[in-house]
Amino acid sequence: MTDVLARTDAVTQERRLVTEVPGPRSRELAARRAGAVTSAVGSVLPVYVERAGGAVVVDVDGNSFIDLGSGIAVTSVGHAAPEVVAAVQAQVAAFTHTCFMVGPYEGYVAVSEELARLTPGDHEKRTALFNSGAEAVENAVKVARVATRRSAVVVFDHAYHGRTNLTMALTAKNMPYKNGFGPFAGEVYRVPMSYPFRDEPGMTGEQAAARALALVETQVGGENVAAVLIEPIQGEGGFVVPAPGFLPALADWCARSGAVFIADEVQTGFCRTGAWFAAEHEGVVPDLVTTAKGMAGGLPLAGLTGRAELLDAVHTGGLGGTYGGNPVACAAALATIATMREQDLAGAARAIEAAMLPRLRALQERTGVIGDVRGRGAMLAAEIVRPGTTEPDAGLTAAISKACHAEGVITLTAGTFGNVLRFLPPLVIGQELLADALDVLDAAFAAHAPAG
Ligand SMILES: *Cc1c(COP(=O)(O)O)cnc(C)c1O
Repeated sequence: MTDVLARTDAVTQERRLVTEVPGPRSRELAARRAGAVTSAVGSVLPVYVERAGGAVVVDVDGNSFIDLGSGIAVTSVGHAAPEVVAAVQAQVAAFTHTCFMVGPYEGYVAVSEELARLTPGDHEKRTALFNSGAEAVENAVKVARVATRRSAVVVFDHAYHGRTNLTMALTAKNMPYKNGFGPFAGEVYRVPMSYPFRDEPGMTGEQAAARALALVETQVGGENVAAVLIEPIQGEGGFVVPAPGFLPALADWCARSGAVFIADEVQTGFCRTGAWFAAEHEGVVPDLVTTAKGMAGGLPLAGLTGRAELLDAVHTGGLGGTYGGNPVACAAALATIATMREQDLAGAARAIEAAMLPRLRALQERTGVIGDVRGRGAMLAAEIVRPGTTEPDAGLTAAISKACHAEGVITLTAGTFGNVLRFLPPLVIGQELLADALDVLDAAFAAHAPAG
């Protein structure tokens, strides 16, 4: 165990390029990959990873990258967090699998207790655990349909809920997630999102909700709606933060209509936005909450948590899966949650916002190509447009992101129009390292979008 701690510490928290990017060993692996891995799976970075610690990823050629992506909002607690590593090692040595549906174990129960404590609302709750965010969302829909005996599911423009058949239907964007993969699951109805940057100026959250719900009432019928499913802040859709009042209005409508309000907190959950869950920022208490990404420090684990009467409406045996709530993943989740609590990583996310927002706003003023800076906590984005318009500039977005990669900073893009730079640093990132990454971002903008 001390060995592991020593090795984790050995990942110096610095950006350092020692070869060209990608280096020779990464190029070798890329050639092997081309002959073995389907080209249908893409990768953001041109380099192959050897190890990682904290907020730094080291490639096979010895280059150190500052991670502003966290493997898509997963390693919030940092890469190889010592407490998580120790918990995983202890659990691996004890037992790796029994299948909770065959031989149950404490870790699954303890994670479910934590989810009941941490998710919004103090009502009686139950949880089921799964392997991926998509699986949690699918099961949320299954629960809502059984509990309401209705079938329609309402989702939003720009939504992302996964890549399985049902979740493809729930996801908005055709390319690359849906194109050619249909037919999709039925009884899914899409309505407009509150997207302040692209809505009529001044449109309130209540007005945006009324616009969406009018379509539901006229085209679906409130009495047919099993669930309204929404990301409190959209992830892949471009970190779209709805106008204040939008989420509460949707939740109120659900309560009045007998529909289940599902918050998909797979990306926003676990301290990412400066609170345990993003729904808290608006005081919304969802009936069901889905979780995954940041929950288990990099191990695959997902949760569906919500009102006991909803989850317990399903017949015994109706939910489950071979690996769902795997004991090693549960041990990782318990250590991750303990670390988040002890180190106040929600506070750390707010400190990241305080450091990053002024820098992004300064870039916005200087370059004229950033139409909107938005987000909460350590989930921040810059939407790139042609100067003076709202016209998306995906080409410039990709060029800036690539320039960051070439200089040793891992950045991600998002958005229906591919024109959003999104930032999801590990919550444990040091202020100096973050400032260095932002200097690299500044230089990338200076090179590709010179002021004026
Ligand atoms: C990533 C994501 C999913 C899907 O999670 P997977 O683990 O990739 O299946 C679902 N919902 C949201 C909001 C996500 O960000």
